[in-house]
Amino acid sequence: MAIAFSSVRIPSLAVPSLAALESFSSTIRGRLHTSLVMIDFHLIEKGPGKKLINEKPLLEWRIAMTTAFVGVPCQIQALRKTQELVGDFKDTVSIGLFCRENWSFSCMRALVEDDYGVKMESIDRFDIKKGKLKLFHGDSVTDIPLAKTHPYVRINCQICLDFSAELADVSVGAVGTPKGWSTVIVRTKKGAELVDGAAAKGYIEVKDIGEVKPGVGIIKRLSKEKREENLAEARRREEKGIKVPHIYSMNDESFDAFVEYAKGKQFAELEYIVIDTGACVSCGACAAVCPVDIIKFDDYRPVKVGEEKEGCNLCYLACPRTAMPIPAIEKTIDFAGDDRDEQLGRYVKILAGRAVSDKIEGQDGGVVTALLAYALDTGEVERVVTVKQGERAWEPDTAIVRDSKELLDTAGTIYSMAVTMEGLRE
Ligand SMILES: Cc1cc2nc3c(=O)[nH]c(=O)nc-3n(C[C@H](O)[C@H](O)[C@H](O)COP(=O)(O)OP(=O)(O)OC[C@H]3O[C@@H](n4cnc5c(N)ncnc54)[C@H](O)[C@@H]3O)c2cc1C
Ligand code: SF4
Ligand code: SF4
Repeated sequence: MAIAFSSVRIPSLAVPSLAALESFSSTIRGRLHTSLVMIDFHLIEKGPGKKLINEKPLLEWRIAMTTAFVGVPCQIQALRKTQELVGDFKDTVSIGLFCRENWSFSCMRALVEDDYGVKMESIDRFDIKKGKLKLFHGDSVTDIPLAKTHPYVRINCQICLDFSAELADVSVGAVGTPKGWSTVIVRTKKGAELVDGAAAKGYIEVKDIGEVKPGVGIIKRLSKEKREENLAEARRREEKGIKVPHIYSMNDESFDAFVEYAKGKQFAELEYIVIDTGACVSCGACAAVCPVDIIKFDDYRPVKVGEEKEGCNLCYLACPRTAMPIPAIEKTIDFAGDDRDEQLGRYVKILAGRAVSDKIEGQDGGVVTALLAYALDTGEVERVVTVKQGERAWEPDTAIVRDSKELLDTAGTIYSMAVTMEGLRE
């Protein structure tokens, strides 16, 4: 998003002036002068994690690549935590998707193919409506009652408390609006710029959610149900001696206690407290922040393939499941308004929206794809990190897109997890 130099953080230790910027190559300087949006030079003071490596602040020059990131609520939590505690990916605008639950790819495939006799390759589209997982294939529709899918819900999802991606710049979902529309919750100043800009330039059509049915009530109900059910599950796990640290920290107003506790904690501790307990969401934040690139994924499970730097604890800091102090994180976000709704979090407006272009075959109103297209076409962002189909049918993979035409292939929902935070690193 557009970032003016006045908003750039200049730490007091080293103060390169704009004259120092001028010493960069002419190509880069030219782009700098014509578009502060495309390349934004700024000085990054690394967060507490980086400080721990050398026991002194690490200052570095970085070409910030402005990015739009799409993710389910846990991925947005990972992004916010990484931005604040590690200092990475600060110039990323986030579009969060509503999410009640998610499924393991291999279990979903077994259910659909073995129990319902539908080949994944033959499915044109998945949807969830009125308590059913719907498989559209050829001229047929196969309905699977959601209750039958529950044994295949990822176990990390059963302790997730966020339905509407409360920490995103903009949240988008299906519930609340009629078929062919998406529900759009505008939360931050960046989010408002994106949605208002896309509407003004004719990428999306919007109206107040009060003008459509069923409206906001159902979003609040689903948020409340998810939170209550999953808090109860977290308590059951705790009674069995399984730790759920993101729940213990969820009301913390400050990061201090966690940052102190996290000192010296490396991948082994992450494995012990998050991965082995089934809390890992497979977001990829641990891999994305690793300075020596030793975290890889084996069937959605993070594994260590080398030796850490001494004292480095960035993976532990970035992980959304080692701690998730929501009030502390909210203080770091540039929300567009002050009100906070108990069920929906902070927001300024809720809209019904849909893409204007009929080329976008979105899951609902195609708003996410249209917002991304607007951001790329206007240079508001340089790249998009989202999801596309992987090698196997309906297996999500990270997509890094720089051209709005390529976005058309990423529209629609794939009901499984992709390790998309890793994509931010590329
Ligand atoms: C696992 C999952 C569960 C969901 N559950 C609900 C729910 O319970 N209730 C509800 O109202 N909405 C839910 N959604 C959101 C809904 O399916 C739509 O994504 C949303 O309404 C946006 O629709 P659209 O037409 O505006 O987006 P589109 O224009 O179709 O764009 C969708 C965007 O999401 C990206 N995407 C697709 N799959 C994934 C994925 N697995 N992870 C990250 N990004 C992805 C695409 O690449 C694309 O950029 C869920 C989405 C996911 C991924
Ligand atoms: S943990 Fe599961 S339910 Fe929660 S946001 Fe992530 S995918 Fe959705
Ligand atoms: S262990 Fe890594 S992939 Fe798993 S939730 Fe934590 S940061 Fe995400």
